[in-house]
Amino acid sequence: MPRLFGSAVLAAVLALAGCRTAAPPAAPDHYAPLVLVSLDGFRYDYRGRTPTPALDRLAAEGVSAGRLVPVFPTLTFPNHYSLVTGLHPEHHGIVGNSMVDRALGSFSLGDTAAVRDARWWGGEPLWVTAERQGTTAGAMFWPGSEAAIGGVRPTFWKPYDDDLAYEARVDTVLAWMSLPPARRPGFVTLYFSAVDSQGHRYGPDAPETTAAIARVDSAVGRLLGGLDTRGLGDRASVVVVSDHGMAALAPDRVVYLDDAAPRLAGRTERILWGATTLVWPAPGQLDSLGAALSTLAHVSVYRRDAPAAAGGVPERLHFRDHPRIAPLVLVADEGWTLTTRAEARVPRGGTHGYDNAVASMAGILIARGPAFRSGGAVVPTFNTVDVYEALCAALGLTPAPNDGDVAAARSVLAPVP
Ligand code: AMP
Ligand code: ZN
Ligand code: ZN
Repeated sequence: MPRLFGSAVLAAVLALAGCRTAAPPAAPDHYAPLVLVSLDGFRYDYRGRTPTPALDRLAAEGVSAGRLVPVFPTLTFPNHYSLVTGLHPEHHGIVGNSMVDRALGSFSLGDTAAVRDARWWGGEPLWVTAERQGTTAGAMFWPGSEAAIGGVRPTFWKPYDDDLAYEARVDTVLAWMSLPPARRPGFVTLYFSAVDSQGHRYGPDAPETTAAIARVDSAVGRLLGGLDTRGLGDRASVVVVSDHGMAALAPDRVVYLDDAAPRLAGRTERILWGATTLVWPAPGQLDSLGAALSTLAHVSVYRRDAPAAAGGVPERLHFRDHPRIAPLVLVADEGWTLTTRAEARVPRGGTHGYDNAVASMAGILIARGPAFRSGGAVVPTFNTVDVYEALCAALGLTPAPNDGDVAAARSVLAPVP
């Protein structure tokens, strides 16, 4: 018996060996990267204005939100950083595209030294969460990705270059994902600004903006095609988001701050963002300046340090708990521009930065991948601060503390069996 048993085992081993020689099976590959794509300024209702086959395909195969509700202020840097940290700007510190800080000086998105200075960037962005937990990350542009936040940069990152061709951006991340297993990233970002730029220049309803919608869709199509070619179509997750929407401006919808407060003609006491303005009153001037500005029509004037019921910043804006937020926060009505006669700006085209409850400020979320709901599921709304939780779940990462709501994040995730 033992002999017989032994020969049976030997025969089985030989059969297996023979089988191996004939057709060596490839090692099982469970590579399932997640690509987070930002289409800057892509308003929630833009899809369908022009053929958008790539976005339509993602939405049909995955899950989408009717609206992605941004954080306030509805600007590029605050929202991109909330998308990847799950924090409101008052908690991550990127309270505007331009900011001042008592210790650090001034920040603007074109200031490379500031953008790369980790002291501006609070919280833990997703690429840091990933790298700390053993998942390699790559950023083909994302606000914050050039700084060593918590001492960590994404393994792959690029200095921001608005002129880099969209095809080259897509091909670069596909090349990263084609590296050998030990090097390829599990989390990747991509960023395209064309829809925002054209929306600013020509307005949300202009044909130029529609052409930009088609252009970014074709970049997403190139990504999907590249993933399919590499056999990753079913395993890679693709999550397309935008940071905010766009509202139309008009030359006569202007609020001149210096009509009520002549001192604001100078530049020292304020940061003007067009839709939103931060004002630092001179010592002892808070009450009088606040009262003067409150006489202006088409602008809400909030006091950072007052209770919400007594003229303070409404709780829902989550915009008071950071020293980079000024004592006075001015928010224009949708489509209105805050400026000064000294600046003599004539608003045209479009902008964003308004209250995040304004519908035209809403963006998009479309997600497809093994961890997400499928088959064209739709949720009516999703909040930008909940994206980090959802992406951590999809990547199997433990999220850092954040302002997101785990239950809300689950609304786009496939039920766990
Ligand atoms: P906004 O003024 O809010 O419309 O900002 C949009 C602009 O931000 C785009 O036109 C880009 O040129 C710029 N931008 C986007 N991402 C980055 C980045 N990572 N670094 C520097 N500038 C950026
Ligand atoms: Zn933007
Ligand atoms: Zn913009």
